[in-house]
Amino acid sequence: MSNSTKYVFVTGGVTSSLGKGIISASLAKLLQARGYSTTIQKLDPYINIDPGTLNPYEHGECFVTDDGAETDLDLGHYERFLNVPTSQANNVTTGRIYQSVIEKERRGEFLGKTVQVIPHITDEIKHRIQLLGKGGQYDIVITEIGGTVGDIESLPYVEAVRQMMWEYENDCIVVHLTLVPYLAAAGELKTKPTQHSVKQLLELGVQPDILCCRTEHELDLTLRKKIAKFCNVSMNAVIESRDADSIYDVPLLMQTEELDKVVLEKLGLPSKTTPDLTQWKSFLDRLKNPTKEVTIGLVGKYVELKDSYKSISESFIHAGVANEARVHVKWIHSERLTTQNITEELSGLDGILVAPGFGSRGISGKIEAVRFAREQNIPFLGICLGMQVAVIEFARHVLGYSDAHTTEIAEDSAYPVISMMAEQKSISNMGGTMRLGAYKCQLKPGSMAFHAYNTDTIVERHRHRYEFNNDYLAQFEQAGMKATGKNPETGLVEMVEIPDHNWFVGAQFHPEYKSTVANPHPLFVAFINASLQFKK
Ligand code: GLN
Repeated sequence: MSNSTKYVFVTGGVTSSLGKGIISASLAKLLQARGYSTTIQKLDPYINIDPGTLNPYEHGECFVTDDGAETDLDLGHYERFLNVPTSQANNVTTGRIYQSVIEKERRGEFLGKTVQVIPHITDEIKHRIQLLGKGGQYDIVITEIGGTVGDIESLPYVEAVRQMMWEYENDCIVVHLTLVPYLAAAGELKTKPTQHSVKQLLELGVQPDILCCRTEHELDLTLRKKIAKFCNVSMNAVIESRDADSIYDVPLLMQTEELDKVVLEKLGLPSKTTPDLTQWKSFLDRLKNPTKEVTIGLVGKYVELKDSYKSISESFIHAGVANEARVHVKWIHSERLTTQNITEELSGLDGILVAPGFGSRGISGKIEAVRFAREQNIPFLGICLGMQVAVIEFARHVLGYSDAHTTEIAEDSAYPVISMMAEQKSISNMGGTMRLGAYKCQLKPGSMAFHAYNTDTIVERHRHRYEFNNDYLAQFEQAGMKATGKNPETGLVEMVEIPDHNWFVGAQFHPEYKSTVANPHPLFVAFINASLQFKK
């Protein structure tokens, strides 16, 4: 390899949901804390070009980067742990790989040749892996291979890893994550699934360097020896990965197991430095010793699958820590909220958040939730659709436009207070065509948002097709709902507030995508603070 970037591949065996994303992010955190500039990439083996067109029930939240990529939720973990933004290059799917290869074929770049999985698809995968390393910006690139080793879909990825291990043997290692299950009836931890999954990797030509073993119980010396012996890895490369109270504990658990040290040794990089985790430890300390508590209702239509709101729930953790408070989230299904049960369902909450979303399911429950928060003076944060619903609720119950709606749901509403953005009207393709990524927003001095951010210009990430209809702005402002954040170039309303309310803020953008351990998001911090005040 021409430059000195090192590559760590993280694969998974035995079962999905072992937490490859968190292990990758934790390893990256430890390497970063030792002074190595590190980034993480996720390769997803599905055919969708990106997860933007996936229902959250399929794959959890869709995370959005500054450059407008719709990505896997693991990228959110990477950003929250490392406090470094990711980009389009950090998430690649099989669909995208094939798309590039097929486009090249049409351009005639393989003229005369048969285009095949090997070498063309694997070359494209290797190219995407090295794209992050080639800029020279990173010492270490960690590439997480989605799916489980042995799946038909992940075969080309494992083959690309095999080739890279062969071509750049001094610069690449493989960390394989497996499960060591506990059989209660036998009273024993079992290593056989791990042995089998390593065997499967070996059949594909890949010898893992390090094994991260997910387990509910301690991996004692005998077990470690056994795993090392059957899987051809050194004893110190058998890493125990126990279930943790919080994902933010994992970097420290991995440090105790010396995962970072073993990785550096195997990559031939100096490991004399000690990781500086002062800030991280102080975060954990405050996380575990809150002095107050607060309960927030999260109203959404995907609450059965909490991964659908991953960035929001993590933002609550960060903002709680910033306020020395434990944030309890009450998950409230918007579809079940009615005028009859709203008081019963929402009473006792210190704050209400109405979540982003698409389509009509659960919309009336969201409107009820906003109305309750507005009338009862309960701190309220509406995000994206949550902000749009706040506008609709205000139009219906304060301006008296009972038919007010968003044209996303009622195209022929007499009062389309939320309508499709002009630029969206000519778009027919659904994938990657929303208003996506980072845009500037100018805040009104003196507003709640201005107080939260303590500045008048912010940059936040978007993912929507509809917006506040400026034809109604004067009426809203006169009646007490103000536009407090606007795009300086287009005049699009990005934030609304009710100044007469305890704390009532709607944001067309997604603040949750930018909250990290090192930088809890100001809007969430202010929302939790307002909720704590309200509780008093
Ligand atoms: N469905 C709304 C829109 O497209 C809101 C999107 C969202 O909440 N992310 O404008």
